[in-house]
Amino acid sequence: MTLSYELETAKTIARLAAGICQSIQDELVSPSLKDGREPVTIADYASQALIGHALSENFPDDAVLSEEHSEEFMLLLNDRQRALVSRFLTDAVGGYVFEEQVCAWLDFGKQKQAERTWIVDPIDGTKGFLGGRHYCVAIALMIGGEPVLGALASPGFYSDEDEPPEDHGALTYAMQGAGAYRESLAGGEREPIQVSMITDPRAAMLLTSFEEEHTDLSFIDDVSRALRRGPDAPRRGLDSQDKYAMVASGMGDMYLRVTPDPRFREKLWDHAAGCVIVSEAGGRVTDLAGRPFDWTTGTRMVNNRGVIVTNRFLHNAVLDAITRSGWAK
Ligand code: AMP
Ligand code: MG
Repeated sequence: MTLSYELETAKTIARLAAGICQSIQDELVSPSLKDGREPVTIADYASQALIGHALSENFPDDAVLSEEHSEEFMLLLNDRQRALVSRFLTDAVGGYVFEEQVCAWLDFGKQKQAERTWIVDPIDGTKGFLGGRHYCVAIALMIGGEPVLGALASPGFYSDEDEPPEDHGALTYAMQGAGAYRESLAGGEREPIQVSMITDPRAAMLLTSFEEEHTDLSFIDDVSRALRRGPDAPRRGLDSQDKYAMVASGMGDMYLRVTPDPRFREKLWDHAAGCVIVSEAGGRVTDLAGRPFDWTTGTRMVNNRGVIVTNRFLHNAVLDAITRSGWAK
């Protein structure tokens, strides 16, 4: 089975959706906004509608798993906000986009049982989008309960590097059995990416969420201690699945995530694309207990707690540290 067409389409769609997010960011994100979340709301709906539109044209029989629904679009947004979504979509696709069209695109593929399901996060890392940090558009395809390809379009990928390339954005993608790659978001040559070969957990670059409520800091502290990492061990907080893209390309060596609420279960669209990319780049992804993710439980992974992503060489040391520090129950 070759999925080259699916991968190329996912890349194109992710790029277009990231473009619409950037336009909305340029126009609407400003420190003086009254309602701080409005640009995210507009961008979430516009990005998901654009993705739904493109998927419906290319893969009309497939199912889609994504966060937003037309019902809330009609209920929660006021007239002006809905008109903004229409206007940004009109600019992106050419030809006026009516509200009914937005609703149909938002709901494309929902509640459908199909062998193939697209897993979509129209903006992953919403706080990063608002704060001018990292965010991405994440698109994955799951076949028979297993993600088989993923694309992450990340406009702010190099935004906090000391010497960023001219294009701050990156497109990172992979297909099962075909390796992982990165291109400039603006387009250009693809470059194969691979995980690092660092084996010493004390020297490893640890990635965590930028938002502290998304990761239990006592977990990070306990595991770091069990790994004998000192206070100056390399560590970086950043939003979105860009963390997966960084581990996949050796810019980070491990990404640890456990939320403070033990009942919290991760949503599929926050991990599916990243997981394929890291696996194809040679890395490993499991839950706290070292189990692979079970993708067959709906919108959340109810059978897994926590997320451990490494370059594979560090994985056993991390799992062992988690057991020793009492977190694997
Ligand atoms: P990150 O950018 O790594 O902080 O993760 C962003 C994702 O965290 C969002 O897409 C949400 O789905 C998810 N999220 C939202 N609330 C929580 C929470 N309380 N704990 C963990 N993850 C969350
Ligand atoms: Mg997300």
